[in-house]
Amino acid sequence: MSIRLKLIMAVAAILVGAFVLISLFNYNVSRKNIHDEIVYSALPLTRDNIYSEIQSGIMRPVFVSSLMANDTFLQDWTAYGEKNPDAVQRYLNEIKEEYGFFSAFFVSASTRKYYHPGGVLKKVSEQDRHDVWFYDFIESGEKYDLDVDTNEVADNILTVFINHRVEGKDGKFLGVAGVGLNMDKVSKLLDSFSKKYSKEIFLVDLDGVIQMHSNVHLIEKANIKDLPGIETVAHKLLASNSEPAIFEFSVDGDKKYLTTRYIPEFEWILVVQQSENAALGTARDNLSRTLLVGGGATLLILFLSILTINHFQIRLEKQAGTDALTGVANRRLFEQRFDAAMANFRRKGNPFSLILLDIDDFKNINDLCGHLKGDTIIKDTSRAISSAIRNDDFCARWGGDEFIILVDGKMSIAMNVAERIRSSVYNSYKCNNVSPAADEIKITVSCGVSEFQDGDTLDSFALRADKAMYESKVQGKDRVAGG
Ligand code: GH3
Ligand code: MG
Repeated sequence: MSIRLKLIMAVAAILVGAFVLISLFNYNVSRKNIHDEIVYSALPLTRDNIYSEIQSGIMRPVFVSSLMANDTFLQDWTAYGEKNPDAVQRYLNEIKEEYGFFSAFFVSASTRKYYHPGGVLKKVSEQDRHDVWFYDFIESGEKYDLDVDTNEVADNILTVFINHRVEGKDGKFLGVAGVGLNMDKVSKLLDSFSKKYSKEIFLVDLDGVIQMHSNVHLIEKANIKDLPGIETVAHKLLASNSEPAIFEFSVDGDKKYLTTRYIPEFEWILVVQQSENAALGTARDNLSRTLLVGGGATLLILFLSILTINHFQIRLEKQAGTDALTGVANRRLFEQRFDAAMANFRRKGNPFSLILLDIDDFKNINDLCGHLKGDTIIKDTSRAISSAIRNDDFCARWGGDEFIILVDGKMSIAMNVAERIRSSVYNSYKCNNVSPAADEIKITVSCGVSEFQDGDTLDSFALRADKAMYESKVQGKDRVAGG
């Protein structure tokens, strides 16, 4: 794996890792905050609010039932033999209309007649299973109680009855009076609470049977001991009737928090339940948004990193193969090009040649013109070479005042190219007013040319060109010789 790939992968891993870690950490913090908020604040607060609302809502009918039970009219009317039933009927109707209840009733202890605003419904009897409530209530000895039952007066609609004992002045038991609330309305009320507080709210009796629920079908039918999830805490929940408590359980992977409050007046337990999933929605949305933005930013950073790395790599590679003074290739890059040319020669038999070029009397030039001027002359010579060679030829600085040119073609072609270079250098540069001894110095070069032979190495190949160049020098410089 290349260093570049390793670097990019490391950057990606660090960015993605850091990002995911921070996001998950934040999510967990939110989750913990949500947990604390639900358990220590939202749930208890909602529970107590609803507790007060339910209590005041149901205390009113309890209060009215108590008024009825203590009404001297009802007591006297019963004590004097329940004459003129119209009177009690009007009385019950007034109660019903005045307070807007679903029903109002009175059951006489002596005649067992069940009075309601529409007349006498029936005589209650121990044999009728509908009337069990009456006998149970008498037996319980309670002053009042709440009973969820179907209403025989009104199409058997589920009703919450508030039953209150009626006693005469002497304490004699005269009957049971009370009112009924339409369970549909109570359920709607619970439903509106549920919506208002975004929580599930219901009431159970001490056996766990649901007594009030926004889903009317569960009332008196479902027991929390049998409901999935809540069953695991049902026993503890029912035992916790003295003080408010908080429970946790899971249904299908969704964590639920639940709190209870015992309502002593009805001997029911108020249950307020909240799902963590719903509350976590915003935190989850945030997490996915952060991950999305983070992922995008990471990709962008990676993209920019790759661009930058590529840019610098190309620059470095160029620098590594370039001669600093002249800007032409250096020995390293030349060797690569030579290898490529050699491979091409072996594969296709394409001939190629070499020109070795050395500036004549350069030591002298340096001495007369100065080292800086000498540098400029080396640069200008390289420029002259570059413009004299063809696109397929390749020039590199071999060292000092020496250049090497890889020529695409045979010896004769290379000889021509060398000659072109030599004459172009000759024409292009003069060193003016260098010293009193010489007004101008002509810059000349000597070239040695060799053609690549099968079995050559770079050394043997260059050596032949070097020898030819030496020959040029011996023969008087400013010339081209083949070797
Ligand atoms: P000849 O004609 O036989 O080549 O004589 P010469 O004086 O050119 O001899 P030679 O090629 O051996 O000397 C090259 C000189 O170039 C030696 C060194 O001082 C000088 N030189 C090498 N590199 C540089 C450089 O980068 N800048 C300058 N100014 N001079 C350099
Ligand atoms: Mg020289």
